[in-house]
Amino acid sequence: MLKSYQLTNFLQHLIKKVKQNIVKNNQVLDDSVIANIQRIYYMSIVGIPASLIHTVYFYLQADQVSTQAVWHKGIILSNLSLTIILTFFFFLSRNFKKQAKPSKLMYFFQYLAIATVLIAGLVIVSIDQLVTTNLTPFIISCFIAGTYFVIRPLVSFFTFLTSYILFFNLIRFPNSTTSILLSSRVNGISMISMGFTLSLITWNNFYVNTMQKRKIEFQQQQLKQIAYYDSLTSLPNRRLFEKTLNKEIAANRYCNQKAFLIIFDIDNFKLINDTYGHIAGDSILRQVGNLLNQTIENAFCARWGGEEFIVLLPKTSLQEAYSLAEKIRLLIMDHPFLVRNHKIKITASFGVSSITCQDLNNYSELADKALYKAKQNGRNRVEIA
Ligand code: GH3
Ligand code: MG
Ligand code: MG
Repeated sequence: MLKSYQLTNFLQHLIKKVKQNIVKNNQVLDDSVIANIQRIYYMSIVGIPASLIHTVYFYLQADQVSTQAVWHKGIILSNLSLTIILTFFFFLSRNFKKQAKPSKLMYFFQYLAIATVLIAGLVIVSIDQLVTTNLTPFIISCFIAGTYFVIRPLVSFFTFLTSYILFFNLIRFPNSTTSILLSSRVNGISMISMGFTLSLITWNNFYVNTMQKRKIEFQQQQLKQIAYYDSLTSLPNRRLFEKTLNKEIAANRYCNQKAFLIIFDIDNFKLINDTYGHIAGDSILRQVGNLLNQTIENAFCARWGGEEFIVLLPKTSLQEAYSLAEKIRLLIMDHPFLVRNHKIKITASFGVSSITCQDLNNYSELADKALYKAKQNGRNRVEIA
């Protein structure tokens, strides 16, 4: 015999599991609404002509025998209503589809569409009872609701339960004898169970796919960070710089405006490393990276390697490129770099050159030469190639 404390334990465990699942499922709730809106859109595209064909077909087959006539009218009316509702759904889902984040209205709309599918099945199957004991329309609507829509399990449970209560009561029509009624109601339980089980499977597949997609996107983001960004300064690395350069040059191929390069190198950096240590040197490189990030707006800068940095200015003039190099030079010269509680001053030397599509194989050659000139001429200065 099950003791009462065992039952309490079981119930507590069940409630805990349900709560855990609610939290878990909440993670993909917004995605499920977006998916459902897409599906409602396509459902209406297929559903509008389908229900319209039903309406026209039944209209052309109009019968005068009393019960048949009522049945005909009922089917015509329900299919016509479905056509109109689906037309509304088409326009609404087309609008909602454009939104990246689902609104409360979209949440409501998806449930309305799911309810419509089940209610349509219930109404048509009830009308059908006038002439046949066939339950096919309700099987179809349970199947659509269970496989086509992504419904969170708790909502799905109550949706299918409500559908069954309605089915149980609506199935009573003149044609139904006690045994037919019993058979239909028992079959209804199977249909609802099938719908609910399919719905659980659909939700679970959706949950797993969505979480895997997120994980892959996150990993891709991480790989991109590793491949294209320098881990010390977080600035773009040489690989990303060259990719950007190729893109910019390709975009500017037929444009008369030139692109310019600034290459700069920290002066006597070896001495800084030797005096304060390698970790202090790293910290200075990081601080230079931050300065560049804060200062440069309309140019693309990267860590070129070691204590060298590079800036690409697409579509600009020599005057502007020179001014930016001077601005960075003064910024570095005036900045108090914090090293082991000391504030130290550093300088850098700059080379500026123009760049055209022909130079792409050794695009840095001219700016490098100008930088060499700046070092030769006493450092902490800008030279033009
Ligand atoms: P110059 O003014 O001629 O450029 O002199 P320099 O000492 O800056 O040039 P040199 O090429 O002799 O030395 C560059 C130094 O930069 C040597 C190298 O150890 C250091 N360095 C390169 N990359 C890093 C890094 O990531 N971290 C640290 N701490 N030092 C680095
Ligand atoms: Mg160097
Ligand atoms: Mg140097």
